[in-house]
Amino acid sequence: MAAAIDEDNLRRIRWVALAMPLLNLLFLAALLTATPRTEPRMLHWQESLRPLHMAMAPVFLLLGLGAVWLLRRPAAPAVLRPAWTALSGAAALSFAIAFVAADQRVSGNITTFVLGAILTGVVVVMPPLPSVLLYGAALVAFWIVVGATQPDAVLLLAAQINGTTAAALGWVLGVITWRQALVNKRLTLQLQRAATTDSLTGLLNRMEMVRLVNEELRRGARQGHPTSLLLLDLDHFKKVNDRLGHPGGDLVLQHTAAVLAQSLRAQDRIGRLGGEEFLVLLPQTDAPAARRLAERVRQRLAAALAEHGKVTCSIGFITSETGEETGFDQLYVQADHALYRAKASGRNRCEVAA
Ligand code: GH3
Ligand code: MG
Ligand code: MG
Repeated sequence: MAAAIDEDNLRRIRWVALAMPLLNLLFLAALLTATPRTEPRMLHWQESLRPLHMAMAPVFLLLGLGAVWLLRRPAAPAVLRPAWTALSGAAALSFAIAFVAADQRVSGNITTFVLGAILTGVVVVMPPLPSVLLYGAALVAFWIVVGATQPDAVLLLAAQINGTTAAALGWVLGVITWRQALVNKRLTLQLQRAATTDSLTGLLNRMEMVRLVNEELRRGARQGHPTSLLLLDLDHFKKVNDRLGHPGGDLVLQHTAAVLAQSLRAQDRIGRLGGEEFLVLLPQTDAPAARRLAERVRQRLAAALAEHGKVTCSIGFITSETGEETGFDQLYVQADHALYRAKASGRNRCEVAA
């Protein structure tokens, strides 16, 4: 969950950090063309702002490029993502404080710290504890900097009060955004699971299997490897229900799902298409291997389901050698014909699609 939130952080940091150097250039141009140019206070102020903008632009460019790099490298060490997030937040708050110091030369203005704290709270979403450390450290730095740069006691007190409020506001915003992000991620996961899973057996549902089969066929076509499907239907399941009742029949379906999951490889995908009909996607599997797997599954199921009385299954299987010019629908029709033949020729057997 936290990893997904960090991923979102990096996406936001990428845009904000890459846009910031443009703003820096714009503000530099505004500073250089501002009137009255020769006024000493203006010159003095410009002198402190110019190096800050010139330092901030490359730093933020680097933060943005780093975020882009991390987003494109899922294999990068996991610790780098939260570290880059925290570093970006620390950089934003540090520059905000440095601008406050420059502004104290001409006024008691602390707007940059207020903006920095709010922007960081919304863009850099962190758990409450690291977040309180970040804003706490920023507040200490802020107090030291305004204490050293604001000579007027009244303006100093105002800056300290407002700066403390800004740091607290940034932290609260960050925590609210963090909690909201957690709720969103949890809901997204639940929705994804509900949309792709069969609730009775925990296997994938029909919609997800159709998607995965088509995806695998496209990959097979690109890389030139075969893909096989097993279409499996329990035999005389109506009689099983008649004998055990529907809840008993449901248990048999769940047991079937468990046996399928135990009998196949990790890369194979198993789904329930509906009723007592199951589909197995076998990536990178040629016809002889599909035949062996189908036969193994049939035998294991017959042995395991014997405890519910004699429950067997029939399997129609098909292989697409290259995945080209085919999709779920075409393979399903052919696998169903093979299944029908298995049923017609006595059930409890496997048949290959013609
Ligand atoms: P065949 O060997 O030809 O496949 O015969 P069959 O009785 O298995 O096939 P048929 O399609 O005639 O009947 C399937 C039965 O599966 C009918 C239906 O009541 C039952 N069924 C469908 N979905 C569920 C379910 O979720 N739970 C239970 N317990 N039974 C289900
Ligand atoms: Mg059946
Ligand atoms: Mg059926």
